[in-house]
Amino acid sequence: MAFVQAPPTLGNQYSDDRVLRAYLERTLGMEALGSVRTQLDRMGALAGGELYAQQLAERELEPQLVQWDAWSNRVDRIELTPLWRRAEEIAAREGLIALPHEAPLDALSRVLQFALVYLFTPSTDVYACPLAMTDGAARTLAGSGNRALIERALPHLVSRDPAQFWTSGQWMTEPIGGSDVGLAEAEARFTPGEGWRLYGRKWFTSAISSQMALTLARPADNPPGGKGLAMFYLETRDPEGRPNNLSVDRLKDKLGTRKVPTAELTLDGVPAIPVAELGNGVRAISTVLNITRVWNAVSAISYMRRGLALARDYAGRRIAFGAPLSRKALHADTLAGLQAEFEAAFQLTFFVVELLGRAECGAAGEAQHALLRILTPVAKLTTGRQSVAVLSEVLEAFGGAGYVEDTGLPMLLRDAQVFPIWEGTTNVLALDTVRAIAPSGLAPWRREIHAILAEAREPQLLALSARLEAAGEAAETWLAQNAGRDQAALEAGARRFALTLGRVTAAALLARQAQWSLDHRQDPAPRAAALRFGAAGVNLLQDFDPELARLLADR
Ligand SMILES: Cc1cc2nc3c(=O)[nH]c(=O)nc-3n(C[C@H](O)[C@H](O)[C@H](O)COP(=O)(O)OP(=O)(O)OC[C@H]3O[C@@H](n4cnc5c(N)ncnc54)[C@H](O)[C@@H]3O)c2cc1C
Repeated sequence: MAFVQAPPTLGNQYSDDRVLRAYLERTLGMEALGSVRTQLDRMGALAGGELYAQQLAERELEPQLVQWDAWSNRVDRIELTPLWRRAEEIAAREGLIALPHEAPLDALSRVLQFALVYLFTPSTDVYACPLAMTDGAARTLAGSGNRALIERALPHLVSRDPAQFWTSGQWMTEPIGGSDVGLAEAEARFTPGEGWRLYGRKWFTSAISSQMALTLARPADNPPGGKGLAMFYLETRDPEGRPNNLSVDRLKDKLGTRKVPTAELTLDGVPAIPVAELGNGVRAISTVLNITRVWNAVSAISYMRRGLALARDYAGRRIAFGAPLSRKALHADTLAGLQAEFEAAFQLTFFVVELLGRAECGAAGEAQHALLRILTPVAKLTTGRQSVAVLSEVLEAFGGAGYVEDTGLPMLLRDAQVFPIWEGTTNVLALDTVRAIAPSGLAPWRREIHAILAEAREPQLLALSARLEAAGEAAETWLAQNAGRDQAALEAGARRFALTLGRVTAAALLARQAQWSLDHRQDPAPRAAALRFGAAGVNLLQDFDPELARLLADR
């Protein structure tokens, strides 16, 4: 009989994940963890079981745009995939948006929320996309002081009842610019008695099935640039369920995230309400962006974890040259390097989650606010790049099967490729990092790294700590040499600088987790991850001759 290969399988994604469980034990403590373990276990079982099976079964289904009904009415309805509809119900019931507002664990509620999101995301075809924007919109509205909008929309956004639950879009990108959003051309016109209406085109609007959106448009007579834009609230359907003076021109034909209906829109008089002032829209919408960037990092680590769980399982099954791949020294070494990248990315991401939770609960001091501002773009850009590199290797770990669509594996890499692009590309976020540091300098970050590393006592972790402190000092020196002196050199090196901050922070956090795991769980694996990640290189600072760089870029 011919050989038949068994596919990789997944177990309960909570109980199987030593990294998540040890982290939650350390940060939440056993008592708080005990109070939420059932929920984590339930989500872990769904993610590794029914949802994963449904995801594989629906591999070829995609959302459809229905522009016309049988009677020639323009309806612009989006037919979602069954898994997306189910994901919406689960997200509402499990409180994936409600949790930080209900705050059952006070400042640590964000940790619980994102632990659930981390389990949920890789089995739900990027349904995290509308949830991220919804979370950002809920926080933005809650802090807006606009009572009418708070009463109208917030209860829907944070509802646990699927019938009441709304999601929100975030429409910024126009054909003229995504990163350079200050160029936006959409106009806001005011008519007495009628209110504001929006006109223009939005070029990337993900999850166009959402009931509402926050968007940017320029009130007539406002100046050009980001300050002249205002942030508006709108509802996508009128009370009869018809498109609300907007048309969905088409859905994008994308490399990945293909279950996410990302549309091109024309706004032709959409009724809209200014959320706050009639200007400074780019600044106003940054609350949404800061939250979606955290979701992006959580999604990136969740995809790495999924790829590694599958690759590890497969390595135990696939026999090559007389032994399972897991027993082959080079295959094991390859997986070890990927696992170290993932564990470091995990610690970095959840540290930012902790900072966000503290800031929102009013429990963060000035230094922690500064750290949150700096580390949000750093975590997003660092983990986005790591996820693409890790998932590319994960596919290779399956050999030819990794390249074949009906294994479900290529989707992981295609989806991951969006993590460095949307919510700010690597370069745009690297420049943002430099801007974020300007008011406080690097001192708060260096102090935090020092405090984190002070917890490491094991000799090799101590040696790693010394290297990390040195890399932190090098980053501070590099910044001092360039900031305010040589703008071109500062910009040219910003990506390497931001990635250095990301890798140093991640390694320091991993060293702390490693010491804790040695002390409390007698588990040497996080120590192995910390040493391996540290050895892979944390200091990426290097300046290149700008003339030579231009030669290469231009030709
Ligand atoms: C699947 C998907 C879904 C999306 N959904 C949404 C959505 O729902 N809502 C929304 O508003 N947008 C959405 N976007 C748009 C996305 O946020 C933008 O595409 C992204 O921010 C990049 O903007 P851009 O396309 O204008 O690229 P550009 O700004 O043109 O960037 C092109 C390249 O130039 C680099 N670059 C730009 N400026 C600089 C600089 N100053 N210095 C150095 N390098 C620079 C960038 O890093 C990039 O590599 C989506 C995109 C995708 C792919």
